[in-house]
Amino acid sequence: MFCPYCHSEETRVVDKRDNSETGVTRRRRECLSCSKRFTTYERIESIPLNVEKRNGNVDEFNREKLKKSILKAVRKRGIKEEVLEDLIEDIELKLLNRKKTVIKTSDIGKMVLTRLKRIDKVAYLRYSSVYNDFNSVDDFINEINLLNENNGR
Ligand SMILES: [Zn+2]
Repeated sequence: MFCPYCHSEETRVVDKRDNSETGVTRRRRECLSCSKRFTTYERIESIPLNVEKRNGNVDEFNREKLKKSILKAVRKRGIKEEVLEDLIEDIELKLLNRKKTVIKTSDIGKMVLTRLKRIDKVAYLRYSSVYNDFNSVDDFINEINLLNENNGR
C-alpha cells in the first residue's frame, strides 16, 4: 500500500470498519513518512455458493441463516460469540474450498454437528434433534447413548 501523497510504503491503519451488508472493509491509514491520512476500500470477491434443501429447492448460501440455526442450539449454554463465529467461518471456508457451487443442507448440517460435538454436548443434541428430526424421547436417548459410547474412545 503506497501513500498517495509521497508514495512511501510505510503506512499504518488507524481505523478499520467492516460493512457486512456491502462486504466492504474501509481502512483509514496514516503515512509514516508524511503523516497524511487516506482511505482504502477492500471488497471480497463474492463466490456464489448455493445450498440444496431436502425438498430439492436451491437457495443462495446464507451465513446469517446458518448462524441463527446454531444460535438456537447453543441458547443459554454460555458459548462465546467468537467461538461460534470461528465455527461458522471454518465451515464457510471449507465449503468455498470444495469448489462445488451447490452444497446439500444435509452436508452443512453434518459439518455443524461434528464441530458442536467438540464444543458442547447439549448444543450438539439440540442441533441434532432438529437436523435429524427427533420426534420421541427414544431418539434423544439413542443419541445420548451414541455420544457416551464415543466418549470412551
Ligand atoms: Zn506519505
